[in-house]
Amino acid sequence: MICVIIACGSHTRMITEHQNLAADGVSFVELRLDFLRREPDIHRLIPNRPTAVIVTARRTQDGGLWRDSEEKRLQLLRSAIVAAPEFVDLEVDVADKIPPFGKTRRIISYHNLEETPENLDALHREMLTKSPYFIKIAVNPKTVDDMFRFVAFVREKNRQAKQLGDKGVRVIGIGMGEMGKATRILAKKFEMPYTYATFSKDRMIAPGMLVYKELFDLYHYDQTDTDTTVYGIIGNPIGHSLSPLIHNRSFIEQKINAVYVPFPLDDNNVPDFIERAKEFDIKGLSVTIPHKIAVMKHLTKMDPAVEKIGACNTLVFRDGERLGYNTDYVAAVSSIEAALGGNFMDEKSTLDGKNALILGAGGAGMALAYGLKKRGSLVTITDINGNRAYDLGKYLDCEIIDWKLRDKLKLDILVNCTPIGMHPKVDESPFEKSALRPRMVVFDAVYNPENTLLLKSAREKGCIAVSGVEMFVGQACLQFKLFTGQKASASLMRNLVRDALSAAH
Ligand code: NAP
Repeated sequence: MICVIIACGSHTRMITEHQNLAADGVSFVELRLDFLRREPDIHRLIPNRPTAVIVTARRTQDGGLWRDSEEKRLQLLRSAIVAAPEFVDLEVDVADKIPPFGKTRRIISYHNLEETPENLDALHREMLTKSPYFIKIAVNPKTVDDMFRFVAFVREKNRQAKQLGDKGVRVIGIGMGEMGKATRILAKKFEMPYTYATFSKDRMIAPGMLVYKELFDLYHYDQTDTDTTVYGIIGNPIGHSLSPLIHNRSFIEQKINAVYVPFPLDDNNVPDFIERAKEFDIKGLSVTIPHKIAVMKHLTKMDPAVEKIGACNTLVFRDGERLGYNTDYVAAVSSIEAALGGNFMDEKSTLDGKNALILGAGGAGMALAYGLKKRGSLVTITDINGNRAYDLGKYLDCEIIDWKLRDKLKLDILVNCTPIGMHPKVDESPFEKSALRPRMVVFDAVYNPENTLLLKSAREKGCIAVSGVEMFVGQACLQFKLFTGQKASASLMRNLVRDALSAAH
């Protein structure tokens, strides 16, 4: 179950939002009385409520907006209970001042905006003495260790509560901030009775909180359970990533009990996270910038391409092994090969003997150069940074050319692996239109926008244009297969990416 928090300044707005949520099928909300600008009027909010409610008035020290005296706050909560809401949320340190009353159930809560305290067991014992129906603990995990320790604690307490049956007190564990987001998405997996979400994006009242529609639609919260397998993406930043969307929809489409979660990690947290991933039942991870190189030293086995390219974008946990793959290069090269009527699985390649120029000698340039060369193309590399092009050319035994001379070659294949043309600088192109020739294949790794200026020019000049969306979808399909053993629908993923890109602009 999801409890949607209503936190707004006027009673009328609170009532309207409550009715709207009920009409949208939401059955549980929290009324944050501390957000009301005027003195809260319980009689307007509770008697005709359209759903079950939690009533609370949060202090500033706990992340709330309560401005009046503590005495008034406690008085407000006492009178709220008399109006018989389903739940009242009381902080552990004041719970004794408000005795249990009527049928209203008590949520005993603890908020720590700074850290994840070590003494969670002692805290839990104390909370149990305050006549709780549920216990809610919200902390701020700063490290992977904080997060795994906190989740292990919450899971253990919920398992114990389950064994105690009616006498057991379930725990809602909230990890605040980006690091803690997984505790919200995976609340059902971690046996919590419910989690909290916000009403809309402009109502982010706690760091890391998700909008309720996102939890339902993107992370299919209702369909997760303790058996749900976890996949995800590690990188930094990953807030913009479309991978959760396409993998989660594919799980639903294929009726696979799995959820794909974003794990934003800085460099320091990567080793610990990979080491302890099994504690979350994580079976596979997409790896993105800046961790594609760093994860390599944590692999027990790797595809030869990972070793040669020096980058791993897919990590699979299987039978105690950590297996590393690079699906970027296969996806990009297969899409170019398909554009020439070939197939990556064929022994004889349509890329064989073709002159290819790669613009950009970074991560994508390396993967493309490796893949095209492997399939027999004669690869030349250029980069605005001449030394970088030289190093890559030497490493892969490719030709190099000065960046200023890039329009002078006779080419069959042009590959853009620089960010030039990427949103918002959509009016830029890395290559002179006049140097494009009919029937050349022009591949652009940039996928936002899908139709870059380079690709538009290529089409106008009669070239075969291949967009970065094909690479993105292709690498995701290959990952999906490595993760689950099932074939993903490329057309479903492609449509989702296109819709998301057009909705974003
Ligand atoms: P990267 O490692 O940073 O490499 C990009 C290279 O292009 C660097 O050498 C960089 O030089 C150079 N560059 C940057 N801005 C430039 C400019 N204005 N003019 C000339 N050269 C410039 O990045 P990457 O990971 O290879 O990614 C490159 C592009 O491919 C990005 O747009 C990325 O979104 C896209 N990509 C797409 C997919 C997909 O699935 N479609 C997958 C991976 C990457 P400096 O370092 O000196 O700036």
